[in-house]
Amino acid sequence: MQLDDGPAATAVFPPGTLVASDPGYDEARLTFNGMLDRRPAAIVLCATTEEVVAAVRAARAAGLPIAIRGGGHSVAGHGIADDALVVSLAPMRSVRVDPQLQIAHAGGGALWEDVDGACFPHGLAVVGGTFGDTGIGGLTLGGGLGWLMPIAGLTCDNLLEAEVVTADGSVVVANADQDPDMLWALRGGGGNFGVVTRFTYRALPIGPMFGGRIVYPGSAADVLFDRLERLDAEHPTVGLPTLGLHRSSDTGQPAITFLLGIVDGSDPGPILEILRRDMPVLEDDTRPMTYLDLQALAGILPFGLRHYWKGHFLRELDRDLFGRLVSAMGDDDSVGNGLILLERLVGAGRTEPSDVGTAFAQRAATWNASALAVWEDPALDATAISWARRVADLLEPSSLMGGGYVNYSTDESAERVRAAYGDERWQRLIAVKRRYDPDNVFRFNHNIRPAEG
Ligand code: FAD
Repeated sequence: MQLDDGPAATAVFPPGTLVASDPGYDEARLTFNGMLDRRPAAIVLCATTEEVVAAVRAARAAGLPIAIRGGGHSVAGHGIADDALVVSLAPMRSVRVDPQLQIAHAGGGALWEDVDGACFPHGLAVVGGTFGDTGIGGLTLGGGLGWLMPIAGLTCDNLLEAEVVTADGSVVVANADQDPDMLWALRGGGGNFGVVTRFTYRALPIGPMFGGRIVYPGSAADVLFDRLERLDAEHPTVGLPTLGLHRSSDTGQPAITFLLGIVDGSDPGPILEILRRDMPVLEDDTRPMTYLDLQALAGILPFGLRHYWKGHFLRELDRDLFGRLVSAMGDDDSVGNGLILLERLVGAGRTEPSDVGTAFAQRAATWNASALAVWEDPALDATAISWARRVADLLEPSSLMGGGYVNYSTDESAERVRAAYGDERWQRLIAVKRRYDPDNVFRFNHNIRPAEG
């Protein structure tokens, strides 16, 4: 297939490539954030590594930069770019589990529900995100915060091996023995180094779990803060303690939803005692559940809503800041359906793995705090974005490194991306980038520019 016009008019693309005049083009360029409406030059739906190689070579021959679409959930819309060739991994969702070795091999376009569904019948799970329909690709490559963090660390810590198609169309396999630098870079450095066609993860045995949501009024912020500190001190293996600060749909007043997941078989009794005793609980649906139930707890956020997310990994969340964040939910109507998401870094997530380590740098943080503005009406764009930025400003003085979670950001500046890694890791990332993508063909990401440094 050839493009109709433009500089790449004479390029030959693999069969199945979609261009603007094709019926499947609009569906294939859909991305999670409804604010974005990008029109790639071509979208290649790839089902095999060979097809990815062909797509990368065709893009290079045509002089087109390459965007990589995994599960399509990047809020920044990095998977789809104007005038680029998109390597879409949407057809690469198969997962193979080896129950003896306790590892799972997943295609580069798999979603967490694919991995969870394949592992669960073997009594296994991979540390994944908390939404089943997000892609494993972007999530793993940016870090990966999920319920199993206290017992197994971040998702990227559990990435044992990756098959990668690099910018010159070569296929590289990276693991701890073979190209450990590439494995290190993939563990947090994003989609900068090539198209990952296979992720091989450590899977861990799981048992029955306990979880659910407990909702408190915003007025309980002070006492809840103390309970959260107690929870961390006495039960550090509670999975990813997560708070959503929002407005109550009933009263319009600030409310706090605590998402609880007990993933290590601990007795829920003492934990619930901390979270419930003498507390003004508005709702509580905590109950015994399976890992799959826990993965469904947060529900599904449909594609097409408008999003602007900004935040920081926090050195410390003190009582005063917590109170101010809760109050920020009552500020004015610009909050709309917005949410402040607070995720505590716990257990194994706080320790860098001792094998090859990770490019992910922010484990010394206590919380990952983000303002998530979510709205529907384009007329509210400026108001919603400015609310999220105001909340991020509140967080900034407590920021660990001056940057947020790259996977949650919408429009990170080059300075904030660099800050998220720190100087030493940044220089090492540049070195790996220069080796594998000296022309910055893979630039639609939290970009590590090879010419820098
Ligand atoms: P895409 O938009 O497909 O890709 C984003 C970028 O990742 C691409 O541009 C590319 O640079 C890179 N990429 C993706 N796949 C590959 C690949 N195979 N090879 C090379 N590069 C690739 N994060 C958490 O840590 N925990 C959570 O619980 C969590 N929940 C979320 C819930 C929702 C509703 C949303 C929208 C996001 C959530 N996130 C979470 C953030 C999530 O990690 C990012 O949105 C991530 O980018 C999603 O990956 P994706 O493959 O779906 O994204």
